[in-house]
Amino acid sequence: MGSKEAIVIGLGITGCSAARMLADAGYSVSCFERASHVGGRLFEDIRANGIRVQVYGPRIFHTDNESVYRFLMRFGSFYPYRHRVLLSLGDKTVPLPLNAHSLETLFGDNHAHQLLIRLQTYFPDKKRISADELIRSKDKMLIDLGRYIIENILTLSVNRQAPGSFIPADDSYKNDAMVDIGTDDCYYEDSIQAMPMQGFLPLMESMLDHPAITTYLNMDALSRISILENSSRILLDGVPFNGPVIFTPSVDRLFNYRFGALPYRATKITFQDAERDFCNESAVIVTPKDREIVRITESKQITLQDIDGHTTLSMETPYQTMVRAHTEPFEPEMTEANLAIQAKYMELVKDCPTLIPLGRMATYRNMSIAESIEQAQKMVASL
Ligand SMILES: Cc1cc2nc3c(=O)[nH]c(=O)nc-3n(C[C@H](O)[C@H](O)[C@H](O)COP(=O)(O)OP(=O)(O)OC[C@H]3O[C@@H](n4cnc5c(N)ncnc54)[C@H](O)[C@@H]3O)c2cc1C
Repeated sequence: MGSKEAIVIGLGITGCSAARMLADAGYSVSCFERASHVGGRLFEDIRANGIRVQVYGPRIFHTDNESVYRFLMRFGSFYPYRHRVLLSLGDKTVPLPLNAHSLETLFGDNHAHQLLIRLQTYFPDKKRISADELIRSKDKMLIDLGRYIIENILTLSVNRQAPGSFIPADDSYKNDAMVDIGTDDCYYEDSIQAMPMQGFLPLMESMLDHPAITTYLNMDALSRISILENSSRILLDGVPFNGPVIFTPSVDRLFNYRFGALPYRATKITFQDAERDFCNESAVIVTPKDREIVRITESKQITLQDIDGHTTLSMETPYQTMVRAHTEPFEPEMTEANLAIQAKYMELVKDCPTLIPLGRMATYRNMSIAESIEQAQKMVASL
């Protein structure tokens, strides 16, 4: 293969975007995907009742980066979508992030009024305040509010917080730890919040629809790719490959688990069809105190499909730590110890200039869809 050849390993949103950007930049791209389909953690399925579901849980597109949105819009149309999440605690159901209405319902009008005055006094320039900031404030009522959030809501994201912080490391859950000073009941604040009209899967398939892209499904890349002992070169079918190799799965297996396996977290999702128009009051309800089910999603509220008399709920169990398990990894478990292992692998990656780890598992940090695409854009620009 010549120097304008590239390889992409893993066809989630990161791999699909990178493959397309490389093809647009004149590369001939071979893509290896272990599964029988593209999509990775954005894979979708159509239920027998016609409802389109996100198999690995709800993924909402949100960003402030217009160039990422422009890239995606080349492959399908979008509709504006404002994501609403409700928190269910005992007999109370309130908007999340907690807003003025949530505080009134949870604590009563007078206490909520006191909290709002204090929030505005201590954080005059802010609309949303995190549990971290509340805990660090000097005001007892606000500190108690921070503790309330940590004890009652963030139980959902235990072990998913960035080291030294109570805020979930994953941007997609960051607002679980926030209080909104107003009455905004939209989960995200980004200037662009939208969903693909036909779903994410056709969008990704359309990205790969390019004469310079060849896709190999059901192909474990590590059956074709290996890395020389001194880590300096990549071999494809035993022959040195000189072009860029974009690697999106976890890097531990690539290096034969030399520093140990990188733990990740995963959940089990089950689906339940119901014969009615809608079951819930919002697309997502989180139930952090429930030991069995911590999040319920009603897909039809996100897909906007016109299907009368049918709906589907997806139920997620609490996340569990997995080490070399045969489950699909959902997210890296970003503890200090695990980040230290990843850093050692990254030292090996540095020795191999053509190996480019991209995306949430390979770089071992939580990233949104938009951040994954942004990372691919930067990578291609730097070649
Ligand atoms: C619970 C949760 C909720 C989220 N919610 C949101 C949200 O609301 N909004 C948002 O923007 N983002 C969200 N995200 C983030 C988003 O889902 C991810 O950033 C994105 O899907 C990751 O894409 P990826 O391509 O990097 O990885 P993946 O989708 O994991 O793709 C990696 C691919 O590599 C393949 N692979 C693995 N090993 C091999 C191998 N040896 N050979 C070949 N192929 C291999 C896998 O089969 C897979 O297809 C969420 C993430 C999680 C975990």
